[in-house]
Amino acid sequence: MHNLEIIFKLIFSQVQVTGYLGKMVEVSKKIAIIYATQTGQAKTIAETINDEAISNGFEPVLYDISQFGRQRPLNQITDPVVFVCSTTGDGEVPESATRCYNSLKKIEAESDGNFLKNFNYALLGLGDTNYTQFCNGPKLFHQKFQNLGAKCFYGPSWADDGTGLDVEVEPFIQGLWDALDAFFQNANQHSSNQKIQINTDQLISQLNKLSIINPNLSSELSVPEYVENHLKINFIDEEKKNFDINDLKNIFSHMYPQSSSGILTATVIDNCLISDKLAEKECYDLKFSLDEKLQYEPGHAVDCLCPNDENEVEQLLKRLNLEDKKDKIFCLESNNPSKKLGQTYVKLSQQNKLTLKAFFKYCVDLRWNSLKKNFFRFLSEYSSDVNEKNRLLQLSSREDNEEYHNLVREMHTSLLDVLNTFKSCQPPVDHLIQMLLALNPRSYSLCSNNDQLEFVFNLVKFKKESTRTYDRLGIATGYLHKLKKHDNFFLMNRKFQNFTFPSDEDKPLVMIGPGTGIAPFIGYLRSKKETLKNLNLYLFYGCRDPNKDFLFKDEILNQLAPNLKLFSVSFSRYVYDKTTCCDDYIEKYHVKESKYVQDSIRFYSKEMVRLIDEQNGYVYVCGDAKNMSKDVFNCFVECLTKELGLSSQDANAYLMNMIKTKRYKQDIWA
Ligand code: FAD
Ligand code: NAP
Repeated sequence: MHNLEIIFKLIFSQVQVTGYLGKMVEVSKKIAIIYATQTGQAKTIAETINDEAISNGFEPVLYDISQFGRQRPLNQITDPVVFVCSTTGDGEVPESATRCYNSLKKIEAESDGNFLKNFNYALLGLGDTNYTQFCNGPKLFHQKFQNLGAKCFYGPSWADDGTGLDVEVEPFIQGLWDALDAFFQNANQHSSNQKIQINTDQLISQLNKLSIINPNLSSELSVPEYVENHLKINFIDEEKKNFDINDLKNIFSHMYPQSSSGILTATVIDNCLISDKLAEKECYDLKFSLDEKLQYEPGHAVDCLCPNDENEVEQLLKRLNLEDKKDKIFCLESNNPSKKLGQTYVKLSQQNKLTLKAFFKYCVDLRWNSLKKNFFRFLSEYSSDVNEKNRLLQLSSREDNEEYHNLVREMHTSLLDVLNTFKSCQPPVDHLIQMLLALNPRSYSLCSNNDQLEFVFNLVKFKKESTRTYDRLGIATGYLHKLKKHDNFFLMNRKFQNFTFPSDEDKPLVMIGPGTGIAPFIGYLRSKKETLKNLNLYLFYGCRDPNKDFLFKDEILNQLAPNLKLFSVSFSRYVYDKTTCCDDYIEKYHVKESKYVQDSIRFYSKEMVRLIDEQNGYVYVCGDAKNMSKDVFNCFVECLTKELGLSSQDANAYLMNMIKTKRYKQDIWA
């Protein structure tokens, strides 16, 4: 959009922009933007930085870190670098970055520490405080860069997906341009940090909390730079209502070209509810075959490609006034190919026959993941109601972090919720497409041991409340639980398989997996069925009620547990009463008053410490990252403190060292 148009729009809507329009870009400067991504987040952020860099007068070149290694070392880059790096597994660098990282390790061992002396970088690290080694991937790179003489001219910033990446990402980007200017010894020339004034006098019709103007904020806000539209949608006069297996495989192959296995077609053999009808969560056991053989080991997971809910897509298209066009084939063009955002979708639409309905169903995330702060800034441009515009600007602002976090991320608010709430907001579909993030595959740990594959999952449910304007299910589990025998669905082999079992079977292995976290251990135990008795295996499992959600109950009690060195089960919502309960196994395997797995671990503290300290045993934890994995880690700290007389700091270091040497492994998800 032309600057004059912005001024006109903003004055018209009582929103005044101050202090940034007068800034003119005088000199363009070359910069390199390098991303190291695992799930695509770092790439998307790097693409945003790329686009904003152009608006700010820089000449960016975007690189995937996988292009660098021994043959093409990083010191070939002489322009200042903006490095965006995520974390994966147990605090490792993304898989695409391992070649580059390993080459730096080798160079460090061989060189005098000046190898990167001309390498100047700004660092944005991505991580999640729900995991033990927060931001460790980028921290490893930062350390190597420093050891090799590189200079960090801006940052490092550590963004936390646990509380919302935007909280750090946004200020990082806002400050980046001045930092780059300073780097080019031409400080304070430009800035994307827009200051805007909003009118907070009038309160909006109070549909839900999302729409209520936050009265505690000042009227001057710092908002992300508005990302202009560079996409144009053209509809072709041809309709397509049905997408067959081959159509969908082609679409997914273009969406996920990095997949090592390619897109595999699964056929459902059986999909059963295995929890009791009265259980708190519905748990399903999905058995399926594949069109191609999958090479896998116990502990591996598959990445399922699940569509958005059909009804949600229909409602959204209706809300966007696109019902009459939804089945028409479209093609996207970009009038600025140097802008990276949305280019994947341009290619996708040019290489496939795509309709809006298929695109919204299969390709983009319609839930909170797409609703970054710059998304609210984008929506504000298309709201004709002044109060709605102001509120959307507040939600996009740095000052309103708390409400953004609580009302959007914590509530898992969707795009449709936002559009249902901000009724005057009518974004054009091509600009909307540009702003939406790709739908991420969902991983599931295999518990099978042969060509009939199997995983278990809990159905995720979100009730209509607060900012959620309708009931909904989790994207993937909402789709998977409806699959019937002979239905097809799509998956890929998970690229990064971190959770593999130790090869030295003589050492003890302690497995901890409450809820569906039991899955990889079932796969492992099934694969060792013949030799179980000879192995040194310990299993801690937890569920709510022995009669409602004890997964794989018969198999565990009859075939597995009797052959393990120890099996222990905890019940979080069941009080065992010997006089009324006649289940002998409870007496045998349930530690009295053990609510959670960590209560049983604590009960066996001496034994556990003996296994890990004297016998160099392994500890494997699988399941919830938000609470369980942290509590289990802390429980081991307690056990080590108690049994070895270590300070809690030393016990922490002891376990961190076990993580580093891969003797304490976690496959966890928040
Ligand atoms: P979404 O629409 O993505 O919503 C998920 C959100 O709902 C989460 O952010 C969370 O805050 C909230 N939520 C509430 N309850 C739950 C819950 N019980 N599980 C997840 N999120 C919840 N899941 C399994 O059920 N079985 C597995 O074997 C399994 N293996 C995994 C292996 C790996 C390596 C990883 C990374 C994850 C695994 N997960 C597994 C999690 C799985 O990938 C999905 O995240 C989960 O099924 C929710 O997906 P969804 O699309 O239905 O929910
Ligand atoms: P769940 O059914 O919600 O819980 C299982 C048991 O754990 C319940 O008894 C629950 O008790 C208990 N629990 C709750 N808080 C705990 C804590 N702090 N410490 C120990 N136990 C606790 O679990 P789920 O939904 O199956 O799985 C949890 C998560 O793991 C999900 O997000 C799932 O997607 C993920 N997952 C990841 C992998 C992987 O990364 N490989 C594999 C499988 C599952 P109460 O509810 O009664 O408090």
